[in-house]
Amino acid sequence: MVRFGSFDTLKKAKKGSLKGKIAFVDELTPKHREGNGYGKNSVIRRTSASIAADKGAIGVVIRSIGTTNDRFAHTGQMSYAKGSKKIPIGALSSPDANLLATMIKKAGHVKLSMTLATEILPAGKSANVIAEIKGREKSEEVIILGAHLDSWDLGTGALDDGAGVGIVSEAARLIAAMPQKPRRTIRLVLWAAEEIGLVGSKQYVREHMADLKNIKLVSESDFGGSNIFRFDSNFASSDLHFVDNVMKVLAPLGIEKGNNTAGGGPDSWPFRMKGVPVFSLRQNGIDYFDYHHTPNDTLDKLDPKQMQQNVAAWSAVIYMAAESDVEFSHLPVKQ
Ligand SMILES: [Zn+2]
Repeated sequence: MVRFGSFDTLKKAKKGSLKGKIAFVDELTPKHREGNGYGKNSVIRRTSASIAADKGAIGVVIRSIGTTNDRFAHTGQMSYAKGSKKIPIGALSSPDANLLATMIKKAGHVKLSMTLATEILPAGKSANVIAEIKGREKSEEVIILGAHLDSWDLGTGALDDGAGVGIVSEAARLIAAMPQKPRRTIRLVLWAAEEIGLVGSKQYVREHMADLKNIKLVSESDFGGSNIFRFDSNFASSDLHFVDNVMKVLAPLGIEKGNNTAGGGPDSWPFRMKGVPVFSLRQNGIDYFDYHHTPNDTLDKLDPKQMQQNVAAWSAVIYMAAESDVEFSHLPVKQ
């Protein structure tokens, strides 16, 4: 085995230097309120197999891309580079990664045998689930709020993304229950197959290219059920006054005004690439990667009080966007 204390040192290893060896990528994922540790380190899980194979390795183990010290290793999507040898890759929980690092340090030479039971199954069918509140005046103009239906099979997906599905569905239900419908149409989309590469949202954008100009705003709730602390937008400068309007309602919920570089959540990104404005209601994610993509992603981690704060913020922003005459001009297309 060869231990790399960071992903960067693996990348810098010479071609052929890992011939017949198993690479151990031992980089710690730090806790962060906005999940920046995961944002930076998930690339280790996604790409280490092909990078190590390119240098001659026959397998890879990585330190789990999670932020807890329990013994559940974190899972998630990975892929092989085109033409790359498909070598096995697995994650070790943090305590097990510590043990292995100590053994390598003490013994110098450690032999590891890997038995992985994963298999690639044929593609299945899944579908986006869509509901709509038809606008009373400008029904052709649409505000999309979403969350994703799929989850990793280790846990139950209560946080990722059952919480998001609950939050946006309840926000839409509250708006639908009002005596007067908002001026624009509100479309609730529960995305399919997000975890394996935003399959549902990418397909939706492909099929709606002709009427994409009528999609005014998109956002997704996909970060568990903890309190929202900030509102970030990604609007044309001519539409930024909407942020000031919405902040009058969000500030009493303990939400601060953020930046204008929001991503809008994973399934909003295919829309943003095509120029659709997005926003993010940023949630406290300090504990999120303790549970995310592990057997510990279960309902007991959710706090109804914090979920209610989410519902209040989502219903306010979506209602105001659908009722307002702010243009929500499209942004430059990203490549
Ligand atoms: Zn998710």
